[in-house]
Amino acid sequence: MIANRSYDCLVIGAGPGGSAAAAIVAEQGHSTLLVERDKMPRFHVGESLMPETYWMFERLGILSEIGRIGFTQKNGVQFVNSDDKETKPFIFADHDDRPCNQTWHVERSKFDQLLYETAFNRGATCTDETRVLEVDIRKKSPHKVTLQTASGKQHDITAKVIIDASGQSAILANRMQLKEYYPDLRKAAIWGYFDNAVRAGGGNPEVTCILHTENKDAWFWYIPLGDGTVSVGLVADNDFLLKRGGSPQNTFENEIKNCPGIQRRLVDATLAGKFNVAKEFSYTVKQQAGEGWVLIGDAGGFIDPIYSSGVFLALKSGIMAGEAVAEGLHAGDTSAKQLGRWTSEYNEGVKWIRKLVRAFYTKEFSFGSFMKAFPEHGKNVTNLLIGRVFEGNPGKIFEDLDPWIEKARKSDNMEMVSR
Ligand SMILES: Cc1cc2nc3c(=O)[nH]c(=O)nc-3n(C[C@H](O)[C@H](O)[C@H](O)COP(=O)(O)OP(=O)(O)OC[C@H]3O[C@@H](n4cnc5c(N)ncnc54)[C@H](O)[C@@H]3O)c2cc1C
Repeated sequence: MIANRSYDCLVIGAGPGGSAAAAIVAEQGHSTLLVERDKMPRFHVGESLMPETYWMFERLGILSEIGRIGFTQKNGVQFVNSDDKETKPFIFADHDDRPCNQTWHVERSKFDQLLYETAFNRGATCTDETRVLEVDIRKKSPHKVTLQTASGKQHDITAKVIIDASGQSAILANRMQLKEYYPDLRKAAIWGYFDNAVRAGGGNPEVTCILHTENKDAWFWYIPLGDGTVSVGLVADNDFLLKRGGSPQNTFENEIKNCPGIQRRLVDATLAGKFNVAKEFSYTVKQQAGEGWVLIGDAGGFIDPIYSSGVFLALKSGIMAGEAVAEGLHAGDTSAKQLGRWTSEYNEGVKWIRKLVRAFYTKEFSFGSFMKAFPEHGKNVTNLLIGRVFEGNPGKIFEDLDPWIEKARKSDNMEMVSR
């Protein structure tokens, strides 16, 4: 219920980023309104988490709740090469057996609902089926915002700070024309949920599996979920996936023929529901904060689904921005400098994930052959897959990885191709 006309903080969107930020700002006693366009709980893609989300759950006080929901445990990541060779899985606990080195495959409806309730429990006013229609960013905050509820009723409110957590809608970045697309990461995805798909079984640990197709034009994700289904998605260049004619279902089925590992796993499986499509999801922004506004999660940029970093980065930026906003409101400082004070540390960590994404899409790269050449990097690769990019020396593997890719490129006498 929108009871007031003015708030200290408005958070747009109740994904992981928005709910985490709203919880942090509200718990410091600032009046906080969290608005979500859809009816909660709502469906969302992005089920495989990174273990470093552990610290976000601890900060939000929801570690035990997450454990109780019955999500599938994710113990590691396995890559299957284009020649159908299954690389040794990167098992998180092999390198560090603390509880923070295990995570989950989550049904996002349940997971995001828990975070939404957490924001409410920390004191935020939470309202779903409420859409942000207009945002009037003034020179000096408070800014004016028009909301529309499910009944069609419009409300004008003001907020000293707007946290844009609207995901791929990226409301403020679109309005202010801040978005920039990575030319080499123009990808699309087609995915669905399958009954009777093969699970690890026999006491084997469940992992997120990433399988290349035979010619490396595309890759599949394979994420076993707690409700018995497996989320299976196909990712490739936008034009390759969506502009060659045929329905998404045809394209998906054709690419399965190029991926024996997926064929084996889906041999008795049936699609539950329909196929989904997403495109043009990778971008960055020119500016992450301004006077009385800040962008978090996908609303401030998204790299690629390959390493399952999206939810982690949404939570991380939500918490970091939430703390900067709460502190700024307390001090009466809603400047870009204050609200964005976390961004350089954050961007420095994100840089390593982006670098590993680019390596993955380089034709000459395969985790299997890199690990054969540099077995000593097992822990460093696992650390990146865990999401440990904000501490230690996350860039260590690139000292060997960059020259190794360069050498492979030269010996093939081919130009490096970024797909
Ligand atoms: C194909 C694909 C696969 C992915 N797989 C993974 C994965 O396995 N693991 C992973 O961690 N990440 C994955 N991601 C990324 C992940 O989905 C996102 O990074 C994550 O959901 C971002 O969280 P967020 O809180 O920023 O935004 P979201 O979770 O997108 O939430 C934004 C919310 O804002 C609401 N909203 C939008 N506009 C308005 C409006 N006008 N008014 C009010 N509310 C509004 C939306 O309804 C939505 O609920 C994947 C992404 C893609 C595209």
